[in-house]
Amino acid sequence: MSANEHFRVDRGSQLARLRSEPLWDLAVIGGGSTGLGVAVDAALRGLRVVLLEAGDFAQGTSSRATKLLHGGVRYLAQGHLSLVREALRERATVLRNAPQLSQPQAFVVPAYRWWQAPVHLLGLKAYDALAGGRSLGPTRWLGRSAVLASLPTIQPQGLKGGTRYWDAQFDDARLAIALARSASRLGALTLNHCRVDGLLAEGGRVTGLRCTDAEGGGSIEVQARCVVNAAGPWVDEVRRMADAGAPPRLRVSQGSHVVVDREFWPSDVGLLVPRTRDGRVLFTVPWQGKVILGTTDEPREDIPQAPRPRDEEIDFILAEAAAHMVRPPTRQDLRSVWSGLRPLVLPARKGQGRGTARISREHAIWTEPSGLVCVAGGKWSTYRAMAQEVVAYCIGQQRVPPGREGRGDRSTEELPLWRDDGVLMSALAGADAALAEGLTEQQVRFAVRHEFARTVEDVLARRSRLLFLDARAARDAAPAVASVMRAEGIVQPGLEDFLVLSEGYLP
Ligand SMILES: Cc1cc2nc3c(=O)[nH]c(=O)nc-3n(C[C@H](O)[C@H](O)[C@H](O)COP(=O)(O)OP(=O)(O)OC[C@H]3O[C@@H](n4cnc5c(N)ncnc54)[C@H](O)[C@@H]3O)c2cc1C
Repeated sequence: MSANEHFRVDRGSQLARLRSEPLWDLAVIGGGSTGLGVAVDAALRGLRVVLLEAGDFAQGTSSRATKLLHGGVRYLAQGHLSLVREALRERATVLRNAPQLSQPQAFVVPAYRWWQAPVHLLGLKAYDALAGGRSLGPTRWLGRSAVLASLPTIQPQGLKGGTRYWDAQFDDARLAIALARSASRLGALTLNHCRVDGLLAEGGRVTGLRCTDAEGGGSIEVQARCVVNAAGPWVDEVRRMADAGAPPRLRVSQGSHVVVDREFWPSDVGLLVPRTRDGRVLFTVPWQGKVILGTTDEPREDIPQAPRPRDEEIDFILAEAAAHMVRPPTRQDLRSVWSGLRPLVLPARKGQGRGTARISREHAIWTEPSGLVCVAGGKWSTYRAMAQEVVAYCIGQQRVPPGREGRGDRSTEELPLWRDDGVLMSALAGADAALAEGLTEQQVRFAVRHEFARTVEDVLARRSRLLFLDARAARDAAPAVASVMRAEGIVQPGLEDFLVLSEGYLP
């Protein structure tokens, strides 16, 4: 299939292919931004690649980001200039390759004390300068009245003015689905709802993996020249499949968000609080008709599949909002609350402090003694460069050929990730049948046929983003979504599971 043809999902054929392929070049564990990026890069070079995801694509951290394509103002303050520069370059790459899923976003950093004005302005001008020719707009000082005109509900008491700068935002889960579709079009096998539960080894070297189809297709053994562990916060868990005593390489920190209606922040411009009372940054970002507030940074020892915001985290976000908004939201105003787990690579050097906020977000790629290649850390914003590095690393280690069919030098830098599905969509019934605001029967059919959706949660959390935007509306729509999915041939779309899960998104 060429990269320009449409991909129609047929799970039966996918499973048959998984069973029959004698030897893959690359087997990727984990379908978040990292693993999907690796699959696209490898498939573009013509390599035979399979990706297995335990749940749904982006079900882990990759659907739970603040949805910013950014260099990271905080990393600038920490002096990680090369990290910031690379991320700003990649910000431009996503904006170019996935224009329908990303756009520039203006922010204001308010100043409530005069000394903050030059500090913020100089810092953010430096941030913009690091973008070079890829700047999205000039960084400017706005006086008090200009800030109030732009952000009508900002706390005016003591406000001196603010610095306006530009970054970008995107739809994280939908970009992940675009990556899965791109990889498939390029020849990769990308299978969700198929957990890897063991690694195959010969003479102490990993030669493949064993996975289980969540829909009852049983256990399948997969042989591969190279296995890449891109399991995000679960990277250590997968490492221990090869070496039960492997010491941890990751620390995990939880970040939570709350979502409110636009009336609390009726502006297209976001707010960045550069230093909360406990020294973090906090964003208020308009997104898909609602407003996201977050995030927190709490170390976690356990690594749950579905992390929930703690009460203290919600209280913390609401207290910060109260300090910056004229009519702050209360718990009753929250439409949805959700958390993600940051996979942070432990610093090689000592002395970086104990808090997770100070561990660098830079990624690491390494090989275990068993030959298992691992990748962890980084950000969504830099997924593409990180994935390119992983594939180059596997090639450099002579674990996989440098490419097949003369495609070894292809780069994802110019690869469009979005296509117009209008014709495909219009062939499906149900355009006029609304199941919720912004969700039609036609879109559910499309999600099943062309976007790998297998459960009600897949549709309501990651094809539509309704669960993240308005958890009650998502619960109300769930039975109707399930019945369309059944009509599309999915016998058990997991309605009961979804109703239980969605409780956790209700504040
Ligand atoms: C609160 C928060 C806010 C963030 N905001 C931003 C932001 O605004 N901008 C930005 O650039 N970055 C942001 N990030 C960082 C970014 O989201 C992550 O760096 C990125 O999503 C990590 O992707 P990943 O693929 O490594 O991990 P994940 O997305 O977690 O993917 C790992 C996948 O592996 C699967 N898996 C695990 N075990 C197995 C197994 N045994 N078999 C098969 N599959 C398995 C999991 O189900 C999961 O889907 C944020 C992170 C957090 C936590």
